[in-house]
Amino acid sequence: MKVRVDKESCIGCGVCVSVCDAVFELGDDGKSKIVAEYVEKDDDTESVGTVPDDIECVKDAVEQCPTGSISTE
Ligand code: SF4
Repeated sequence: MKVRVDKESCIGCGVCVSVCDAVFELGDDGKSKIVAEYVEKDDDTESVGTVPDDIECVKDAVEQCPTGSISTE
């Protein structure tokens, strides 16, 4: 699945990293990003990657992100 973090709305709370560190980490700017293993695009506004469908914690991160900054397709 495709996973996208909207860095403009991310507040760097770290919840996504706590629930799904196989996919998310905090970058030097304090915002969430897709880990190196899966990332395809990462800039100031967004981080996008393709993650294996069997990594189910992505769904938890989507549901628990307080700003709705994570989306999948
Ligand atoms: Fe950013 Fe949402 Fe992750 Fe918090 S849970 S660091 S707001 S993407």
